[in-house]
Amino acid sequence: MDRKTIFDKTADLRRSDYFSSPGVPLISPGDVLSPQFLRDDLFLPSLGELDVVRHYSNLAKLNFSVDTNFYPLGSCTMKYNPKINESMSSLEGFTSIHPYQREDMTQGALELLYDLEQKLCEITGMKRFTLQPSSGAQGELAGMLMIRKFHELMGNKKNKVIIPDSAHGTNPATASMCGYDTLVIDSNSQGLIDIEKLRSMVDDKVAAIMLTNPNTLGLFEENILEISNIIHNKGGLLYYDGANLNPLLGIVKPASMGFDVVHLNFHKTFSTPHGCGGPGAGVVGVGDILKDFLPVPLVNKKNDKFYLDYEIKNSIGKVRTFYGNFNVLVKAYTYILRLGRDGLLRVAQNSVLNSRYLKEKLKKYYELAYIKDCMHEVVFTCEKQKERGASALDISKRLIDFNIHPPTMYFPLIVKEALMIEPTETESKETLDNFIQIMIEINKEIDVSLEKLKNSPLTTILKRVDEVNVARNPKVRWIKDKKSI
Ligand SMILES: *Cc1c(COP(=O)(O)O)cnc(C)c1O
Repeated sequence: MDRKTIFDKTADLRRSDYFSSPGVPLISPGDVLSPQFLRDDLFLPSLGELDVVRHYSNLAKLNFSVDTNFYPLGSCTMKYNPKINESMSSLEGFTSIHPYQREDMTQGALELLYDLEQKLCEITGMKRFTLQPSSGAQGELAGMLMIRKFHELMGNKKNKVIIPDSAHGTNPATASMCGYDTLVIDSNSQGLIDIEKLRSMVDDKVAAIMLTNPNTLGLFEENILEISNIIHNKGGLLYYDGANLNPLLGIVKPASMGFDVVHLNFHKTFSTPHGCGGPGAGVVGVGDILKDFLPVPLVNKKNDKFYLDYEIKNSIGKVRTFYGNFNVLVKAYTYILRLGRDGLLRVAQNSVLNSRYLKEKLKKYYELAYIKDCMHEVVFTCEKQKERGASALDISKRLIDFNIHPPTMYFPLIVKEALMIEPTETESKETLDNFIQIMIEINKEIDVSLEKLKNSPLTTILKRVDEVNVARNPKVRWIKDKKSI
């Protein structure tokens, strides 16, 4: 395949007369091509139909996705998105409604939102959920704004939020967007929170602690109840970053661990697409203490009718338009209904089983960052490999040649030469065994063909990218005949 863009391929006077349906009624058939629609000052490519079909079919072949290959990207939970989610969310009753329609015309959709909320409450033990936020990060913001408003109303003078050094970067970003100072607590040698250190840090000024459990090293914070007591005793609240709830589904509820607020990433735990497959959802659940602070509206029920309730006493207001990404919520609802209680429990068990299998099979070749048994993901350090000449980056790039997506690298920041691997529960033993073989093979290559590793990937159109140059001198404009687009 060449590397030309569709604009490079343009050839004067070449045309296609095929138009796919625009999805909206046309004013009259000829109007789409009339001069008022095609502005002269825009440079649009002119190509024949076959040129266009080949261009995009070849581009599509370059896509890497969970549907084509193994994608063990730690913390991102790149698991398979069942196709039934798509069929359900494309039912016409869902796709052709409008958020401004009257409540009596959208009872089915409101019931779905209501029931989804009930199921999330059962899964997490929280009391109510907002389905509005569109990402994990936005969920965090909504959750922390509720915490802030709670303290303000209570007259609590608090200005600090505690966050572990292994946390996802969105946690400190959220805390500081809410006006808090971030206090970092170091992990101990086991990769867990140092309880004594925590005790010495917590005072009346601490508004909250933001925790991920299993933490971002894939390890379960065993002392979570003690942590919860330490924070609550000083009037602070516990924020749970539940982006990756897959290892706990049906086993432990965040509410039982003492958390007051929880966000869940539907595009991780509940099998909805990441990024280009559609927008996300980062729903937020709260315990009794924050129920009156949730964004408006909530879906409530009165006399067997569902309605949008805007009367939430201390609401932080809206955090996005309408009720969230409705279509994504339908997909997650489908996933929950299809798996049921037993299925969700198996998700948790298999996510842990799969990553522990990788851990056991690979620990002879790659050093474990922490000895403690991992949950849904495992972190290795490639420091030994680096001494032999190959960094975590080289190993990751080489995996691409074997049609495997690189794991998360150099994260969490506290592990040197980190490779963070999350196989997810949807992968088969054959896929895991193949990955293990390839990782062992790459480890051998360090001693026999280091050059190959250093120059990988060898099989892709774009080879090793000069990342420093890309970041410092990005080319974001395409210019043809001095007309820029
Ligand atoms: C992915 C992730 C986030 C952020 O979620 P987005 O949907 O990407 O905004 C936050 N915390 C953890 C632990 C995550 O894995």
